[in-house]
Amino acid sequence: MKPTLKAIWHRCLLCLQSTEQVICPLCLADCGFVNAPLLTQDLVEFNLNDTTEHFAHDVIVNAKFDGLWVLDIYQYPLSVLIPKLKFYQQPHLARLMAQWFILHRVVHMDSLPDVLIPIPIHWRRMWRRGYNQSQLLCDELSRCLKIPYLENAVIRKHYTKPQSELNLDARRANIKGVFRVDIQAFKDVSHIAIVDDVITTGTTINDLCRSIYQVAPHISITVWCMGLSVYEPADDKAVGK
Ligand SMILES: [Zn+2]
Repeated sequence: MKPTLKAIWHRCLLCLQSTEQVICPLCLADCGFVNAPLLTQDLVEFNLNDTTEHFAHDVIVNAKFDGLWVLDIYQYPLSVLIPKLKFYQQPHLARLMAQWFILHRVVHMDSLPDVLIPIPIHWRRMWRRGYNQSQLLCDELSRCLKIPYLENAVIRKHYTKPQSELNLDARRANIKGVFRVDIQAFKDVSHIAIVDDVITTGTTINDLCRSIYQVAPHISITVWCMGLSVYEPADDKAVGK
């Protein structure tokens, strides 16, 4: 029988079985982040408070921000979903990840930020892709949590090569001084959350935070990240997997 459009649409994105949801309940039960106790807390605070365990990652060791919440380390299913969101024109996946983030991470937070800030992309990349995935995440988080987001408080002044194509030193040089921050936008704000889809070395997020602190040293910055890339196998143990 020729499949109907409806039947194709109602297939789990991960296993392709029929389901009424984007991801079927069986696949969801298999997702590591659902039962990752270490990720139900601020990882910067965890490193400060826990004397026996340490979450070793460059982004925290070199952190230029005050807090970090992560939906999952960058592994299945995010290693499937984030490339689809970013490179294969599936913007609706931002809604799914934002809802997971609220359900599994925001519920554990003691306080919420005043505003959300997406990682800005250059207008040329925006024009090519048609959307900024970080902004889509912000849209959904903002809508569900009733927290406003500042769309143009930070912009990218220059077009840069994708960070994923560069080594660590080249990443630093590539991103340095690339953000322009609107001072006025941060005048009456004391706590912001920067929303990112993936963090690898943390070069981009740290440079953005440095730029914000230069004009608004009074604010507290928390980072909300969907997928934290860990490239040392030993680090898997650090997130209790
Ligand atoms: Zn499935």
